[in-house]
Amino acid sequence: MATATHTHEEWRSLAAALEPGAGAVIGGELAAAASGETFASVNPATGETLASVAAGDAEDVDRAVRSGRAAFESGAWSEAAPADRKSALLRLAELIDGDRDRLALLDSLDMGKPVEDAATVDVPGAAGLFQWYGEAVDKLYDEIAPTGPGDLAMVSREPLGVVGAVVPWNFPLDLAAWKVAPALACGNSVVLKPAEQSPLSAIRLGELALEAGIPAGVLNVVPGFGETAGRAVGLHPDVDCVAFTGSTDVGRLFLSYSAESNAKPVWLECGGKSPNLVFADVADLDAAADMAAFGIFFNQGEVCSANSRLLVERSIHEELVEKLVERARSTAVGDPLDPATRMGPLVDEGHAARVMSFIEGAGDDAELRTGGERFARNGSGETFVAPTIFDRVPSGARLAQEEVFGPVLAVLAFDDEEEATATANASRFGLAASIWTSNLDRAHRLARRLRAGTVSVNTVDALSPQTPFGGFKGSGFGRDLSLHAIDKYTGLKTTWIKYGP
Ligand code: NAD
Repeated sequence: MATATHTHEEWRSLAAALEPGAGAVIGGELAAAASGETFASVNPATGETLASVAAGDAEDVDRAVRSGRAAFESGAWSEAAPADRKSALLRLAELIDGDRDRLALLDSLDMGKPVEDAATVDVPGAAGLFQWYGEAVDKLYDEIAPTGPGDLAMVSREPLGVVGAVVPWNFPLDLAAWKVAPALACGNSVVLKPAEQSPLSAIRLGELALEAGIPAGVLNVVPGFGETAGRAVGLHPDVDCVAFTGSTDVGRLFLSYSAESNAKPVWLECGGKSPNLVFADVADLDAAADMAAFGIFFNQGEVCSANSRLLVERSIHEELVEKLVERARSTAVGDPLDPATRMGPLVDEGHAARVMSFIEGAGDDAELRTGGERFARNGSGETFVAPTIFDRVPSGARLAQEEVFGPVLAVLAFDDEEEATATANASRFGLAASIWTSNLDRAHRLARRLRAGTVSVNTVDALSPQTPFGGFKGSGFGRDLSLHAIDKYTGLKTTWIKYGP
């Protein structure tokens, strides 16, 4: 790992001094929930309550939508020159960068990820996205259709209005930025509903947006539970579009909310069960082992595109599994504030129990090679789960089919490319896939045949602001990142002008 940004002691004292904002951000003000209700934001590494957060519900969502609508109609942001929106978004990117330590701590304390990962991956990632979309927005040109003389048919992109963004807890700040940055760049107002497990960095993002000069009401943040605040965003008749990241089951609910309300477009970034295919002709088996371990243990395995199925050619099967077991056993699991830690606790005890149910239910066919335990540290409750590897998992088993969303790898051996492809595609998900081979023909052939939104070759989880991210099948539709995300947050308008000779 690169040099740590702070020592363990420094992170501990920064954490002790942290005072998280805990209100909703509506119309430019930090506000309590209309009901006066709050919920506890709890640190899964210690069991301590970090803050009592405003528990927004339908009434707060309605206030936020009305505030977003008023801001949109005022034109202060929606009709601002793209270059002006660009300046504000670039300022916001700088403010996020400048607030790195606080934002990293908010995410790490809220949901358990190692703080150094938050500081070096999540926060720069979020700042980079605001910068990227800020820089893009005054370089997007509209079209003139080839209609012929006497007609001028212009095709322009317009912001939709009020965008609802409902996001999960595994990359709280980053995934909020994936929605908010392009939606704001296009001139929309946004109502952001962070996950109840991790609301703190979203609240801070709302504050920083105001500091950056984004007009009040353009970015509203309503913390609260899914069944209340999230549902209210989905059902609100004056929300023009919902961008959702989360589980496939809740994603389907958003489709029904849309059908029950105003038939708003809904974009879904959902779960995955990504296969990582390692062929015997891989150039560097150690590199493949390093990245396979990273692909399942990074962020405690709480990654939508986690490489949770390792498909390995039978002739190198045992050698690769041994390398992976070594890596799993040397993964430092512990205090997320310690720069040496590679895996913190899972987000809460309920989720750890769910992950354990996969481990305990793996069945007699699968062979536990390492891990499988759950434990507590410093009063945390049993939120920590050891890096776990199951070998010889049948392709139809629950462990090979369902998303665990934890540090649990299912290993399956294959004999040839046909079998590898069929097994990889035998999933209801289609988010990501990886291939390790030194055979260029095979890499291209398989990249086409694998049903996944991103296929990484000789790496895992390749992604950047420049490339679209999203899935096929149960992993959802629509794409985050890249200029393609602009399609989700704009509508096309045709303006047809007849002119005389
Ligand atoms: P989740 O679906 O439980 O929750 C996601 C969001 O939806 C939260 O804000 C939650 O409050 C809200 N919500 C929950 N129930 C709701 C309801 N009944 N009505 C309206 N809103 C509701 O998911 P999670 O546990 O927070 O996150 C894990 C899931 O997210 C995994 O399935 C993971 O694969 C997925 N994910 C996908 C991507 C991607 O880009 N494809 C990225 C990260 C996470």
